Amino acid sequence: MAGRLANKTALITGGNSGIGLATARLFIAEGARVAITGRKQDTLDAARAELGERLLAIPADTTDEAALARAVAATVKEFGPVHALFANAGIAGATPLGGTTREAFEDVVRTNLTAVFFTVQAAAPHLADHGSVILNGSVHTALGMPGYAAYAATKAGVTGMSRVLAAELAPRGIRVNVVAPGATRTPIWNRTAPTAEAFKAFEQRISQTSPLGRIGEAEEVAKTVLFLASDDASNVNATEIFVDGGTIGARMGAPMFRG
Ligand code: NDP
Repeated sequence: MAGRLANKTALITGGNSGIGLATARLFIAEGARVAITGRKQDTLDAARAELGERLLAIPADTTDEAALARAVAATVKEFGPVHALFANAGIAGATPLGGTTREAFEDVVRTNLTAVFFTVQAAAPHLADHGSVILNGSVHTALGMPGYAAYAATKAGVTGMSRVLAAELAPRGIRVNVVAPGATRTPIWNRTAPTAEAFKAFEQRISQTSPLGRIGEAEEVAKTVLFLASDDASNVNATEIFVDGGTIGARMGAPMFRG
């Protein structure tokens, strides 16, 4: 199989939806064998039906260490050592000041931060030397968006943690980077905008905040993850790439600020 990930093995957490699924599709098109994890059996089955035998779909909750260990073992057994690990699984719970329970706050931290560390820890002994680890971050690290303290804290934590992990894995030539998407069209927004109409209104609003004047697509994030996973990024390490139309880097160019 030809392609930028020919004969490589990838493990993608949260690969049954949104950005993770788009990345699994692209990695397979580029020659990889891909294991995905997720909690929902129906979307795991749908991914397997779509992507065929070079996809292994593993039910595994990333907040459960034993499940993570099983997922890594199944991946290695089926496809061999992992060249690219995309720690992507995440949730987007709002935690506004004054209206947040400890349980809700800790749920976001457990899923978006703690589980990311334990994903990398579970995979680390099985990562191929000179492999690539990509963590999914967010523009929320710099947005100051009201109501998202836990989410922003976890994503800033992911970025901080990525540098430590890069240092720890450097002796094996393994690179660790963060992809930081802006608002991207995926099912993560289903709760914020549950109907097609509500999503259209949300999309119009969010488009005003990006210099490129639109929401992002999961495939655009996937292409950046592919770059980071591939040898094209062989000297790219311990950095963060925003895929946000310039929302963070050129905020004042957004349509909402134009005269
Ligand atoms: P989706 O809701 O489409 O996908 C989230 C994925 O994470 C699903 O596959 C889900 O699996 C999985 N997941 C969540 N919790 C767990 C868990 N405990 N164990 C295993 N899998 C879990 O959203 P996105 O594709 O948008 O999100 C992917 C990542 O991108 C997240 O980390 C998110 O924070 C980040 N991101 C997204 C942005 C956006 O605008 N879409 C912007 C910036 C960052 P299941 O459905 O089976 O529960």
